Amino acid sequence: MISYIYIAFFFIATIYAFQDDVCHGEESLRDCLKDSKFEGTTHFRSDIVYDVDLGREYNLRVIRYPVAFVHPINKIDVSKAIICGANHIFPVIARSGGHSFESYSIGDKNCTLVVDLINFNKISINKADKTAWAGFAFPSGSCPSVGAGGVILGGGEGLLIRKFGMSSDNLVDAQIVLADGTIVENANATKYADLFWALKGAGNAGYGIVTSLTLQIHEIPKTVTLMNFTYNFNPESIKLIYQTINELGRGFDKDLTIIIGFLHPGNVAFVRGIYLGPQNKLEEILGDFIEKSKPKEDKEWRYSEGDWFSSIYKNSRYPMNTEEGAKHPRTVSRSLKIKSFYVDNPGLSNKGVESLFDFMEAIKKEEGCGFYIETTLYGGGEVNEIPRNKTAFVHRGFMYDILTDVSLPLTGGEKCLNLLENFALEFRKYTSFESFQNIIDKELDFWQHRYYRENIEKLVEIKLKYDPHEVFRWSQSIPASFSSIEG
Ligand SMILES: Cc1cc2nc3c(=O)[nH]c(=O)nc-3n(C[C@H](O)[C@H](O)[C@H](O)COP(=O)(O)OP(=O)(O)OC[C@H]3O[C@@H](n4cnc5c(N)ncnc54)[C@H](O)[C@@H]3O)c2cc1C
Repeated sequence: MISYIYIAFFFIATIYAFQDDVCHGEESLRDCLKDSKFEGTTHFRSDIVYDVDLGREYNLRVIRYPVAFVHPINKIDVSKAIICGANHIFPVIARSGGHSFESYSIGDKNCTLVVDLINFNKISINKADKTAWAGFAFPSGSCPSVGAGGVILGGGEGLLIRKFGMSSDNLVDAQIVLADGTIVENANATKYADLFWALKGAGNAGYGIVTSLTLQIHEIPKTVTLMNFTYNFNPESIKLIYQTINELGRGFDKDLTIIIGFLHPGNVAFVRGIYLGPQNKLEEILGDFIEKSKPKEDKEWRYSEGDWFSSIYKNSRYPMNTEEGAKHPRTVSRSLKIKSFYVDNPGLSNKGVESLFDFMEAIKKEEGCGFYIETTLYGGGEVNEIPRNKTAFVHRGFMYDILTDVSLPLTGGEKCLNLLENFALEFRKYTSFESFQNIIDKELDFWQHRYYRENIEKLVEIKLKYDPHEVFRWSQSIPASFSSIEG
C-alpha cells in the first residue's frame, strides 16, 4: 500500500512538473519529425520510455524535462532533427555520454529537444603499419565511466596529458551537422579550419552536433607501470605532497602523468600515476620524490607493471569492481557539484593547502556528503608545449589544475553546496583566474573568460558564422553576439 501511495505521488509530482511548463509546439514538432521521415526513435513526455532517457543523465542533482529525446540513426537523421527543432523554436541539445556536471546534455531548462547520440557508437581503428602487439592508446579522460563526445570536444584531461596533451589536441578531423542542417563531412586543419579550431576545446559549447571524430592514436610500450603512494590525511602531510610536486613536478619525464587525490569517506590521500615504461626506470625517477614527500609505509601496492588496458582499469578512481568501492558514495551517489582551479608557478602555497584542508574537514562534518579532490600535473608536459591560441583550449602553462568534486545526498545537500561556494571564493586567492570548461559550473562568475580567456572573441565570431540564431543554446553555450560577453 505504501509503495502504491509513493508511486501515485511520484506520478502526480511528475505531472505537476510538466504542467508548470507546457512545451508549446510539441505537436508540430512531432509532425515535423514524422513528415521529414526521421528514422530513429522519438520519445516524447507521454511515452513510458521517456523516463529511461531521463535516467541516462549521470548527475541527478539537477533534472529538467526536455520536450523529447530523439535517437538519430545516422547523420541525415541528425540534420532532420536539428531542422525540426529550429523551425519550432526548441533549443537543440546534443547528448553523448550524459556526464555534464550541470546536466546540460538535457539543456538548462525544460522543453529542449535532445538529440541523443546513443546510436553513434562505432569505433574503427586504422593501424596502418603499426604492430598490433605494441598496443595503442588514445589520451581520453581519466575516469573509465566518462564517454567520448563531450569530453574530447571540451578538452579532455586524462592519463596521457603530459605525454600527448589534452584529448582535443589529438583530434584530427570531425564530421559535424550545423544549425541549418548542413552536414560538414570534414572539419579539419584545412577545411572549415575556423570551426575545427573551435571544436578543439569548445566543441561542446554549441557549434553543431558532432557525429564522428577522427583521433590520433599513439603507440604505447608493451609494459607500463602504475604508481600508488598513500599519505596521512593531515595538513602537514598534504603540504609536503604539494611542496614536493611544486619542486620536482616540472622536471618529471613526460612519460609520467601524476595525480594527487583526496577522497572522503575514507580520509584517503594519495599520489597516483602512470609511467610509460618499466618499474625499475620509474623507481629511479621517483627516488627524490619519495624521500621528500614521505608516503606511508603501509601494505598498499606501490608499483604495478602491466599492459596499458589492464593498468588504466586498475587505476580507476572509481573502483566499482571492489567490495569497498561498491559501497563508496562516489559510486553510489550520482548527485554532484564540482569546481575547477588552475594553479600557476610556483604551485599551491601552504596557505592554499590550509584553505583546501579546512574545506575538506567542513564537508566531512556534513552527513551524506563526500568529496573527491583531484590535482593533475600539467607542468613539464606536452599539454603546456602547445600555444594558448592554437586551439580553443586555452589553459596552457599552468603547474596543475585542482578539481573539487562534492558528492551530495539525493535530498538536503544545500549546506554542502554552500560550503563549496564559500570555499571557492576563498580559494581563488591562491589560484589563477581560469577554470576548466569540462568541469562545467553554472554558478561560476565570468565563466566565458575563465573557460576561454583570450580566445572568447574568436569563439563568438565563429558562433556568429555557423549558428547566428543560437539554435544550440543554454546558459553556458557560446553566445552569437559580442554584447553578450560579460565583464
Ligand atoms: C564521473 C565523471 C567523470 C569525469 N571524468 C573526466 C575526465 O577524466 N576528464 C575530463 O576531461 N572530464 C571528465 N569529466 C567531465 C566531462 O568531460 C564533461 O562532463 C563532459 O562534458 C561530458 O561528456 P559527455 O560525452 O558525457 O557529454 P554530455 O554530458 O552528453 O554533454 C555535455 C555537453 O557537451 C555537448 N555535447 C555532447 N555531445 C556532443 C556532440 N556530439 N556534439 C556537440 N556537442 C556535444 C552537450 O550538448 C552538453 O552541452 C567527468 C565527468 C563525470 C560526471
